Order: sequence, then C-alpha cells, then structure tokens
Amino acid sequence: MTRTAFKARLYVPGNLATGVSIIPDKGQQHYLASVMRLVTGDMVALFNGVDGEWQATIQSLGRRSCSLDVIAQTRPQRASPDLWLLFAPVKKARLDFIAQKASEMGTSVIWPTRTDFCQVTRVNDDRLAANAIEAAEQTERLDIAEIRDFAPLGDVLDAVPEDRLLIWCDEASAAKGDLNAVSVFAAHPKPQRAAILIGPEGGFSENERSILDQRENCLKVSLGPRILRADTAAIAALTCFQSVYGDWPNIT
Ligand code: SAM
Repeated sequence: MTRTAFKARLYVPGNLATGVSIIPDKGQQHYLASVMRLVTGDMVALFNGVDGEWQATIQSLGRRSCSLDVIAQTRPQRASPDLWLLFAPVKKARLDFIAQKASEMGTSVIWPTRTDFCQVTRVNDDRLAANAIEAAEQTERLDIAEIRDFAPLGDVLDAVPEDRLLIWCDEASAAKGDLNAVSVFAAHPKPQRAAILIGPEGGFSENERSILDQRENCLKVSLGPRILRADTAAIAALTCFQSVYGDWPNIT
C-alpha cells in the first residue's frame, strides 16, 4: 500500500484495530464529503495518537451517515522527540500559528507560560489542541502534541526536571556570535529531553533573567542578530534544535 493511496488522513480518538467501524465527527464528515469529495470505497489513513497508523475504507458517506472500516495497520507507533516548547503566549492568530507550527516541527509538549511582561491573560486550550491535531493530520505525525494549561513561569520551571535541558532563547544575547544556537547545540552533548523557552513581546524581566542565569542545565542561546517576534523565534529555535539533535536525517 503506497501512501498516495490514502485520500485523507484523520485523527480519531478511540480504539483502532482490524474490523473496527469508525464514525468520524461532523467536521471530518464534511471534510471527507465536501472538501475532499471522497466516495464509498476510497481509502483513508487513521491514527489515534497511540496505536500507529491504520488503513480504512469508506464504507458509507452520505448527508446523514458516514462510516469507515478499519482494515490493517500500515505504520507502528513512533514518538516525536521529547521536546517541550515553553512560550509566553501572543494574541489570537499568532498563537494559533505557534501551536500549528510547533506541532508540525514535532514538539511533544506545548506549554503557554505566563511571564512578567506577558500581555495575554487567557489561553483557549481547546483551540490550541485543535491546531495541534490538524497539524498532526497534515504532517503525517503519529502522536499529538500535548497542550498544557497556561501557568506562571515559576511553576513551569519547577515542573521541568533537572535532567531536561532548558534552552533559553535570550534576545539580549542576540548579537553574540558565540551563543549562536546551532553552534551551542553542536558543542553540547545530545540531550535525551529538552525544553525551549521563548519570552513575550516585552522580553524577560530582570528578575526572570537572574533566575534563568542561575539555573542548572540551562543553555542560553541566540537566534541571530535580529530581534525576532516570539512566533518567529519559536519556529527558528525548533528548527535549529531538530536539525542538530532531533529527528531530521543525519547530515554528517
Ligand atoms: N522586547 C524584547 C526586546 O526588544 O529586546 C524582544 C522580545 S522578542 C519579541 C520575544 C522573544 O523571542 C524573546 O524573549 C526571546 O525569547 C525570543 N527572541 C527573539 N529574538 C531572539 C534572538 N535574536 N535570539 C534569541 N532569542 C530571541
């Protein structure tokens, strides 16, 4: 079975096994029927985040009903790199963008973090989760990034265990060539687990900087000479990390 045989790829929470019948939700039914214009007999790929990917056939697809017959597993489950993104949330569309792109880049945990100069007071977790699911469907990821509740930086840092490398993207180091993220990563042993920290539009406060400066197992990195917007900085840092330590093919 070639991957092109699948006309669509859907996340379906719940049991996936040969012979199981799946009823997609209304949004997915609309997507299959009206957006992709699929018909009975077409093949789709299904995943539930834990049991790998499965081939299914559209058994019925009409105005009122839709069911998919699960045939066989096509890929075993594979976890994304153990990489968290801790970031001070920005507003609306740019927040959706961060959730989508971080998920596409293989982030395992997406954690909105309240810093001293953060302007956002509430985060819609369901919306972030919907973005993470859509990105997983599109990128052929087999797991779904976990969305954690918006929490103060102190609590988030307390929950990052000491053996998880903290990568602090520091705008004050922006012009320092010796802190270039790619060079810093290349000179540091590959971590088994890591968390990237991105600050808010106003940057980190002096108090936060002093806490981060004293933290063990913390790498301070620059993302180049320009001060990037927080959403751009998140994607740039994830790209540097994945290319050096992550699941991109080895370039050596
Ligand atoms: N208000 C800050 C200033 O003018 O210095 C800029 C904050 S920036 C918009 C938001 C976050 O993106 C920063 O806290 C940092 O985590 C990250 N960031 C942006 N540009 C960066 C760079 N060149 N190097 C490292 N981190 C950067």
